[in-house]
Amino acid sequence: MLETLRRIIQAVNEADSLPDALNLIVREVRGAMATDVCTVYLRDRSTNRLVFRATEGLNPDKVGSFSLAMEQGLVGWVASRGELLNLSEARDHPSFQLVPGLGEESYDTFMGAPIIHQRDLLGVLVVQQAAKRRFSDEEESFLITVSAQLAGVIAHAEMAGAVIDQDPRPNDIKRVVGIPGSPGIGIGTGIFVSPTADLMAVPSRQATDRKEELRAFRSALARVRDDIEVVAANLKDELSPEDHALFGVYLNILDDSTLGGEVAALIKAGEWAQGALSQVMIKHIRHFERMEHSYLRERAVDVRDLGTRVLSYLQDEETSRRHWPERTILVAEEITASALGEVPRENLVGVVSLRGSGNSHAAILARGMGVPAVMGAADLPYARLEDRQLVVDGYNGRVFINPHPEALRRFQHLVDEDRALSRELATLNHVPCNTLDGHHIPLWVNTGIVADVQRALENGAEGIGLYRTEVSFLLRDRFPSEEEQRLLYREQLAAFAPAPVTMRTLDIGGDKSLPYFPISEDNPFLGWRGIRVTLDHPEILLAQVRAMLKANEQLGNLRILLPMISGIEELQEALALIRRCHLEVQSEGYTEPFPPVGVMIEVPSAVYLAGALASQIDFLSVGSNDLTQYLLAVDRNNARVADLYRTLHPAVLAALQHVVGAAHSHGKTVSICGELAGDPRAVPLLLAMGFDQLSMNAANLPRVKKILTSISMDNAQTLLDSISTLWTADEVGAKVDDLLHSLDLQRYVRGKGDAAIDADGSRSAS
Ligand code: PEP
Ligand code: MG
Repeated sequence: MLETLRRIIQAVNEADSLPDALNLIVREVRGAMATDVCTVYLRDRSTNRLVFRATEGLNPDKVGSFSLAMEQGLVGWVASRGELLNLSEARDHPSFQLVPGLGEESYDTFMGAPIIHQRDLLGVLVVQQAAKRRFSDEEESFLITVSAQLAGVIAHAEMAGAVIDQDPRPNDIKRVVGIPGSPGIGIGTGIFVSPTADLMAVPSRQATDRKEELRAFRSALARVRDDIEVVAANLKDELSPEDHALFGVYLNILDDSTLGGEVAALIKAGEWAQGALSQVMIKHIRHFERMEHSYLRERAVDVRDLGTRVLSYLQDEETSRRHWPERTILVAEEITASALGEVPRENLVGVVSLRGSGNSHAAILARGMGVPAVMGAADLPYARLEDRQLVVDGYNGRVFINPHPEALRRFQHLVDEDRALSRELATLNHVPCNTLDGHHIPLWVNTGIVADVQRALENGAEGIGLYRTEVSFLLRDRFPSEEEQRLLYREQLAAFAPAPVTMRTLDIGGDKSLPYFPISEDNPFLGWRGIRVTLDHPEILLAQVRAMLKANEQLGNLRILLPMISGIEELQEALALIRRCHLEVQSEGYTEPFPPVGVMIEVPSAVYLAGALASQIDFLSVGSNDLTQYLLAVDRNNARVADLYRTLHPAVLAALQHVVGAAHSHGKTVSICGELAGDPRAVPLLLAMGFDQLSMNAANLPRVKKILTSISMDNAQTLLDSISTLWTADEVGAKVDDLLHSLDLQRYVRGKGDAAIDADGSRSAS
């Protein structure tokens, strides 16, 4: 069964259009189940009817024209209940209806399964047969499995069809729902960046200059040939003549008379080089994979390897001559720090990532850069978005493809409103952050790249609460040397001196993997992360800390922060290494005293050990992004569970309160540097809890300052008291909103009130 299923899904995935995909489904499922009839009904969102979209066995003339109401007949029964129905005698069921002209008269046995994608009913998959017998349990589970697996494929094909076809009513499916990643509205042109050298992720695109594409392909091919010839020559004496002959086979695969010729023909027909290469290679890889003989099946690996090598040369060349539209919306399966860094900042107006969620590091970076972003937009037909107009609604987590002019007008209006709000908030930039009753709360910023510092200073930040050192490591192709690091750190320290700058030691692992130091694990967030990596590689930590201490010379504003500490032993080991570095740099003539050292509280064990940890160091800083993920057991990077990642969850708030109490009882300060610190809805609570500083993305700082300078400590305390007995994040959120409403501060929370715009320009509740 698994093999049949895999074959069907693969075939459907390869279909060029939604009708082709549906026809394939009905043909393959009917064949696999050996039944007389297989039919797919899809829900039409504008009429909310179930449309007869493909059939094997019933009257094909009715395809597209016949439909059922949502509760009509057996199909309606399945759709409205979202349940499987298996009947040996369909006529006996109270919902049975015979539709004249459909050709169902002789089929008494019926089984229908709902097709549901992300809680959304897409349609119904039906099998019928003349022989009177109930479908078996095994057949039931096959149909359920097929429809569950096909749901994602159909959703994707439906969306792709809506983008391509000039369908008069596709507005609702030209809107893809994802997760808010970074607030704001971006209007621009979609540019898809493929993951490097992944044949399966190359979009199809028309060549703008066929000759140039052909030249690029031939040149990439020549470079791969050269590589193979060098390897072949190097191994000449090591391999037997038979094994060595394999290199000849490799070179032949690329010949003009074989795959090379096929690729060239596709390019001449108008496809760009990368698309042509990927289409030909995938076809042959699949062909080899289906072979019976294991030797031949393994040749798929060779073809894939060769294709990947050619693609990587093509991509290198493309990157060097890439032209970014004036208003670029970057679309990628998984946005990376280096992809963000590739687009000139002035051209980048939006970001869409098919994977990840609002707490992924890519989203945090986009927020830091002030670029609207939508994450987890898994259904986006990315391969067909190239050069289409897109709107990224980072407030509500939606992407609109070729929106209606009325929708565009409204979005442009929102962009203008945002600009006006920023101008209004800019008047607070250099006003101290004091509550109405005079309580001062320092607002610090989180930085990663040098550009963040400029914006932070403009927005009136009083210090850096988290400098993510790994960002500059992520943007390179090797570890930076101690001297390169010293220069980078000096820039951050000097820009803020004498205000404090908190530098976190390298925090890689989880969703941050260095291209030149890949970490591949089944559970990366529970694996080799943060301090665990650098304690296992003390040479990396030592070079980094030495660079920090040297950069601090004559400035004296450095604070060192240790990530992912889960126990006292890790802290003590790290402290010993930092002390050793300090002695070393002193012996080299550096004079600054030992800097304050702190730990991040981002693992549940550290919450319970907060008192013990505080007794050993100078300050604590709560990493609420990870702490929330670990407390609620919700992967911060997984779009599927993003709804469960509740930052105002009572358990998270209780942990925060405990940490503040533990730090203060040891006379130590405690800040918070997770995204929560930059959330205008959370800050009244954080103020009341007693955090000594809040450290956030520079982009969020003006709104947070507006809230804090418009409330009193008394307001905040009353709010905190009132939530202490609440059980859910929704209840807490509602209490916070009541307070913000009563003070007329609601419009600073999200920027856009509660209204969202639909693709046709109408407004709807979000
Ligand atoms: C955190 O976990 O809250 C944090 C600030 O660190 P990062 O987001 O870089 O993991
Ligand atoms: Mg963290």
